[in-house]
Amino acid sequence: MAPSRDDPTTSEMRHDWLTDRWVIVAPQRAARPVEFVHQPPRIISKHACPFCQGHEHETPAAVACYVDQGHAPGKSWHVRVVPNKFPAVSSPEAVLAVDSNALAFKQLALNSENSAWKESGYEVCSASAAMCSELYQRRFLSGGHEVIIEGPEHLQSLSQLDLGTASLVFKSYRDRLAYWLTEQALAYAVVFKNVGEEAGASLVHSHSQLIATDLVPTDILRAAQRMDQFFEQKGECLFCRTVREEIEQGLRIVEQTPDFVAYCPFASRLPALVTITSGQHCARFEALPDRQLEQLAELVHRTIRRLEQIFSDVAYNYVVHTAPASHQGSAAFHWRMDLFPRISTKAGFEWGSECFINPLTPENSAEQLRSVRL
Ligand SMILES: [Zn+2]
Ligand SMILES: [Zn+2]
Repeated sequence: MAPSRDDPTTSEMRHDWLTDRWVIVAPQRAARPVEFVHQPPRIISKHACPFCQGHEHETPAAVACYVDQGHAPGKSWHVRVVPNKFPAVSSPEAVLAVDSNALAFKQLALNSENSAWKESGYEVCSASAAMCSELYQRRFLSGGHEVIIEGPEHLQSLSQLDLGTASLVFKSYRDRLAYWLTEQALAYAVVFKNVGEEAGASLVHSHSQLIATDLVPTDILRAAQRMDQFFEQKGECLFCRTVREEIEQGLRIVEQTPDFVAYCPFASRLPALVTITSGQHCARFEALPDRQLEQLAELVHRTIRRLEQIFSDVAYNYVVHTAPASHQGSAAFHWRMDLFPRISTKAGFEWGSECFINPLTPENSAEQLRSVRL
């Protein structure tokens, strides 16, 4: 039976008129192992870990597997990609099945005088107009949510992986981003990693996640528009220019490799945040060739080790920002990774104002990170 609009097992988006942001309401996520109660990530032995080798039957079937024959032969896999057991978004098939009244409401929304709807072209759908008025917009969210399991061993941080496995992790990011953005033609996809309790990890075993959606989040759209604006005004890509100036100044560089640069951004909102990106213009992470992905995996591996030497056992996140479908191949959009230790708390002022207080200057953070002996 197709799920209904009020079925608590499907996700939906709700629009906040004040901020023009969409929120994902995902009641099925409440079934996750760690929810609402403050407790550390499950510290479980490899005998009980669903991500360890030998427990493959405890996850949904893999959609992709990667084996590194060169470095560690004898394993059946080194990286496994599986659908998330507790997805934050509904699959396109589930959304198609869900709402026969969607089309009528979409027409109503696009004909309205509401300019925000028209400009963004949002497909608003609902089985109940009473629950989806001009003020209360809701829509189904279609997309994918995958987990990238990083290595058959029970390790926690990417820095503990051998370089062969780390390279496969980055190749899997590329392949899965290409799958969702190109083959499935979704509007937006992001890869992110949570390590440690403060970073939001609910399982210890090293893993990343990918979420793909049919809507570009407001802040991502704004960032893309800022890059467009810079390109129109200055005739060059914002990040190509930034990388060039960072290298010239040398104040905030953490490390440079033949194809990549890692630096602490000038107006970083978070302490010791490191941005890693291509030295040459590249809109899409998925366009990076194998040789560059291997180089990038090594650079990220080293940068995490730098962070972990300064802040021991630190929780961290990283996020891979690649071009949304609307900006693929764009001369203005430049992909990047943001990697940040969780050493500050978003508190009342930051929640209230969205203006962050960074207690470390990016120049000092970069100097500290640079001087770590690896
Ligand atoms: Zn494990
Ligand atoms: Zn560029």
